[in-house]
Amino acid sequence: MVFNNSIRVVDAALMIDDLPVDAIARELETPVYLYSLKRIQENYRRLKAAFEPVGGRIHYSAKANSNAAILRTLIDEGAGIDAVSGGEIARALQAGAAAQDIVFAGGGKTVAEIASAVERGIGWFNVENELELQYINEAASSIGTEELQVALRFNPEVSANTHPHIATGHGGAKFGLTAGAISDALEQPERYPCLNICGIHVHIGSQLGDSAATIQAIAKTKQLIIPYPEIHTINLGGGMPVAYRLGQTIPSLDKLVSEIAPHLRGYQVLLEPGRAVVADAGILVATVLYVKEQAGKIFYIVDASMTELIRPALYGARHEIVPLLQSDNEPVTAQVVGPVCESADVLAQDREMARLKVGDQVAIMTAGAYGMAMASNYNSRLRPAEVVVAVDGASWSVSRRRETIDELVLCDC
Ligand SMILES: *Cc1c(COP(=O)(O)O)cnc(C)c1O
Repeated sequence: MVFNNSIRVVDAALMIDDLPVDAIARELETPVYLYSLKRIQENYRRLKAAFEPVGGRIHYSAKANSNAAILRTLIDEGAGIDAVSGGEIARALQAGAAAQDIVFAGGGKTVAEIASAVERGIGWFNVENELELQYINEAASSIGTEELQVALRFNPEVSANTHPHIATGHGGAKFGLTAGAISDALEQPERYPCLNICGIHVHIGSQLGDSAATIQAIAKTKQLIIPYPEIHTINLGGGMPVAYRLGQTIPSLDKLVSEIAPHLRGYQVLLEPGRAVVADAGILVATVLYVKEQAGKIFYIVDASMTELIRPALYGARHEIVPLLQSDNEPVTAQVVGPVCESADVLAQDREMARLKVGDQVAIMTAGAYGMAMASNYNSRLRPAEVVVAVDGASWSVSRRRETIDELVLCDC
């Protein structure tokens, strides 16, 4: 059973690079996230190579996973960072990113976030509101900058082939600016004397199933910006898909790039992949707390839940579940559920899997993106530790420890 070069089953043991996951988990409390930095490095290099023909510069979308060791690994590889809040900017800077290499995106930046980002010298602002342009212009003016790089985020009104919760480019979505609003801004540059509006941004969604909508969005983007030669940069956002099922094939990146390349000639190209960099490098390890058979069903109640990984509850996402040690137990159809008081707290429904017993450990696969990043303290649960296996594949360390009860009440007044 091979998920990728780093995560696979060898002689009945789930391995992360050179290490049996079971050996690491034995030394830790569960639930715990494990990430292969080697796989993350490999994913980054693969994306970089695929977009080489259009000269694409990658800003890793930190919202997918803002673990410090992951950010450092990617920054060392030369990646910039795509941040969507003051908090993500702080984490990126803390991890060693140069302010110039950060793009600040998001449809609801506060005036304080904008002021702070301008003072720090953030490289690009991806803008989604006209009023936001005024705020950024004022912040730039107050520090005497006149060349702040801005990309306008375009809502191309195309429907991406993906889950409705992660589509962002259709007309009714809250994201981006209409073609009309973008033309208005570009027709009146004198309204924003401290800004250099020289980029256009278009991100139509995540886990994109095919290239048709992307190509359509790029064609519409080109049409919009052709009258404005000052627009020299096209930021295509992220959304590159990931295989969540064992053996699933995903659309070829090389094919996508060769299809979009003719439209991008003459432009600087920026990219913001998140999921495709980290998803398949991460697993969430959980322990079976109870086994219950009722209403004709088998329930495995594990110590991980929707508070560590909300994707199944939020998107109906399917994650493979693999025991750390394979058994030849008979296959059963089971429900893998967490302890949280919500009917949606189901990690796997009607899943064919080898029978488990109390104390067995399983890995919830492909959990590196939008896992820990979306973790919450709901039910006053402690957010889990994160462990990284180094790029050498042979050593591991705790990158972020588990929260404590003291920390849970720290902000109570
Ligand atoms: C979420 C998001 C990304 C990253 O998306 P992935 O699907 O994780 O690659 C990039 N850019 C923007 C604007 C986003 O909202």
